[in-house]
Amino acid sequence: MSNMNQYMETAEKALLHTYNRFPVVFDHGKGVYLYDTEGKEYLDFAAGIAVNSLGYGDETYTDALKNQVDKLLHISNLYYSAPTAEAASKLLEVSQMDRVFFTNSGTEAIEGALKAARKYSYSKYGTERYEIIAMNHSFHGRSMGAVSVTGNAHYREPFEPLIGGVKFADFNDLESVKTAITDKTCAILMETVQGEGGIYPATPEFLCGVKALCEEKDILLILDEIQCGMGRTGEMFAWQGYGVKPDILTSAKALGCGVPVGAFLMTEKVAEYSLAPGDHGTTYGGNPFVGAAVSAVLDIYKDKNILTHVQEVGAYLEEKLDALVEKYDCLTTRRGKGLMQGVVTTIKPGTVCSKALEKGLVIISAGSDVIRIVPPLVIEKKHVDEMISKLEATISEII
Ligand SMILES: *Cc1c(COP(=O)(O)O)cnc(C)c1O
Repeated sequence: MSNMNQYMETAEKALLHTYNRFPVVFDHGKGVYLYDTEGKEYLDFAAGIAVNSLGYGDETYTDALKNQVDKLLHISNLYYSAPTAEAASKLLEVSQMDRVFFTNSGTEAIEGALKAARKYSYSKYGTERYEIIAMNHSFHGRSMGAVSVTGNAHYREPFEPLIGGVKFADFNDLESVKTAITDKTCAILMETVQGEGGIYPATPEFLCGVKALCEEKDILLILDEIQCGMGRTGEMFAWQGYGVKPDILTSAKALGCGVPVGAFLMTEKVAEYSLAPGDHGTTYGGNPFVGAAVSAVLDIYKDKNILTHVQEVGAYLEEKLDALVEKYDCLTTRRGKGLMQGVVTTIKPGTVCSKALEKGLVIISAGSDVIRIVPPLVIEKKHVDEMISKLEATISEII
């Protein structure tokens, strides 16, 4: 029996069965390639679900982590630490927000955002203004709060009753949002580009329209950029491409490029009426180790001109994917922005991902019919070519 099978068997016996994993045990990465425990090479176009923006082994990044490991990992939020202070001010600069709270995950960033919005409304208007409008086909995480605002009944039903006061509207349908708004509405939550739901970018009309409704009624706009933020669309945060600034913003995934960290951020207008000492907290959140990671990531984005790079390679990727959609009947549409792309397929996307893996290409799915392409942001055009050729070989074999 190979090592790989042994590891898989051990994992299956020990881990709670909440994932149907692909049959591979990854051992290490270099650049934009992953290697399994038997040495086979894979081109990585999934980046650990849009996390590993810098790929693997960026020296500035790993040195920053090693350096911090030797100094101090954790002290709790009862004290200050330099890496976290630096990470916070750098993140505020690029996000154009005024205050940040660091969390350990995306789902916790959503929890914090919901609490921040409720507290704002409570401070200003009292207990009767608490409703959250979220979108159908959205995904915001797995905690009870985050599941409550996730627009997929399959994820919600087994855990009901969830938090109350949540309504769902249709993404990119302004009328449906208008209909959902009442005197009790406190916040509207959406992903700027829906990720898990199938890579749907918000239309500019929709996002601008929602923002106008929010301003009219002092409703907070919460944009979840956990997946589409941190340069993925070619803007640091996707909203910047629309010019529609949220009141509360969530980030995670690529924020630490592999270190578990998330954040919710807000404008001063929200902060003034929102969470105060005693209202929210976390033991680990924003510890010096993740602070050093976020700080290094933001420096590297700047030094490497990641945003310009994503715009260039993203345009090339779009062109190549469009050609593929043109060529194969089983591929019907391409959607996305920058290096966050989805290709709608009539074949089961899971089958495509499994076959691609055999051919040394890591890709993932989104929704029920979308091949999701969220590579490290440092990929070059030659990697796009290699991905396209592997994907084409995969599809030809299936059809
Ligand atoms: C992944 C994701 C989350 C949840 O983040 P976790 O770190 O898995 O808790 C929330 N919102 C969006 C848009 C995501 O893509």
